[in-house]
Amino acid sequence: MIPISVVHIDRETEELVLGVLRSGHLAQGPMVERLEEDFRAVSGTEYAVAVNSGTTALVASLQALGIGPGDEVITSPFTFVATVNAIMESGAIVRFADIRREDFLLDPAAVEAVVTAKTAALLPVHLYGLPADMPALSKLAAAHGLAVVEDAAQAHGARVGGRPAGSYGLGCFSFYATKNMTSGEGGLIATDSASLAQQLRLLRNQGMRNRYDYRLVGHNYRLTDLQAAVGVGELRQLRARTMRRVQNAARLAEMLRGIDGLVLPSVVSDREHVFHQFTVRVTSEARIDRDALARALSHRGVGTGVYYPRAVYDYPCYRGHPLVQGKGCPEAERAAQEVVSLPVHPSLEAADVATIAAEVRRALHA
Ligand SMILES: *Cc1c(COP(=O)(O)O)cnc(C)c1O
Repeated sequence: MIPISVVHIDRETEELVLGVLRSGHLAQGPMVERLEEDFRAVSGTEYAVAVNSGTTALVASLQALGIGPGDEVITSPFTFVATVNAIMESGAIVRFADIRREDFLLDPAAVEAVVTAKTAALLPVHLYGLPADMPALSKLAAAHGLAVVEDAAQAHGARVGGRPAGSYGLGCFSFYATKNMTSGEGGLIATDSASLAQQLRLLRNQGMRNRYDYRLVGHNYRLTDLQAAVGVGELRQLRARTMRRVQNAARLAEMLRGIDGLVLPSVVSDREHVFHQFTVRVTSEARIDRDALARALSHRGVGTGVYYPRAVYDYPCYRGHPLVQGKGCPEAERAAQEVVSLPVHPSLEAADVATIAAEVRRALHA
């Protein structure tokens, strides 16, 4: 079986974790600081604040910006549910704008159409490792006086308009086990703003500046040094592993060219994709549909994933919820029917990539 993702922790990372265990300092401490310091090279930002998940990173960012009840946040309905849960946790209203067919990402024109007097922030998602159109979205945000929070949970090291994903607004990263780098669970907020970084550090630690000196109503969003040690080790591998992802994606694209009804990931100029997922569309022109392709590949030992099978609003717990607004988004719904992700992770050998492509061709009679 060729799995859709593999976690591989190297020996150096094991040593870093053992070092923390032996130090006796397990909670947030020097290793968290080291992770923050090291991650700044990825996010290209002045500050980095580690927290205990990507979801927490999003919640804390909205809180640090003062976004809450009465505000609206515009985002994509074609995302992992955490994006939406985080907005709702802040108390703000989620307003959906549709995605663009060619890249699965928030469509700036659709965003512009749903901006209201209550809109406080834009929350684009850099889905599959391809950054959203940040130059256009930033311009739009500036024109309407909106904050920008980026869901960069899948986009460590991606770039757009010559800048790292996560450096345009408050950049929220995840270190969950299946992401391009992991700490088991974990997250981080990147920012160039000293005051927002300060606010995030307070929120993370019960609002406390010095011991028992509370400056605001905070929370416990802290990452542990144990987790941070895994993250520091993983970060050392990130560049090399991302290059392997990109290389695997290029090989897959080459081998899968020209199949009827199979739409390959689009290459967008001025954007560097880090291929968290290699996601294709299976359209009505294909010999079999998306679900049949996924089943066929599974029978032949190739793991796949459907990210995501429905638009986020299309579940009973969100449908009709007072904090969820917006009409249907046809492109998001279409994508949910057509997408399937193939293995692209750095543990694939060249032979695995060839096998994946051959099995896709076989299943589609191509
Ligand atoms: C993983 C993910 C998150 C949430 O990150 P966690 O660390 O699992 O909380 C948010 N948004 C997207 C798009 C993700 O893929």
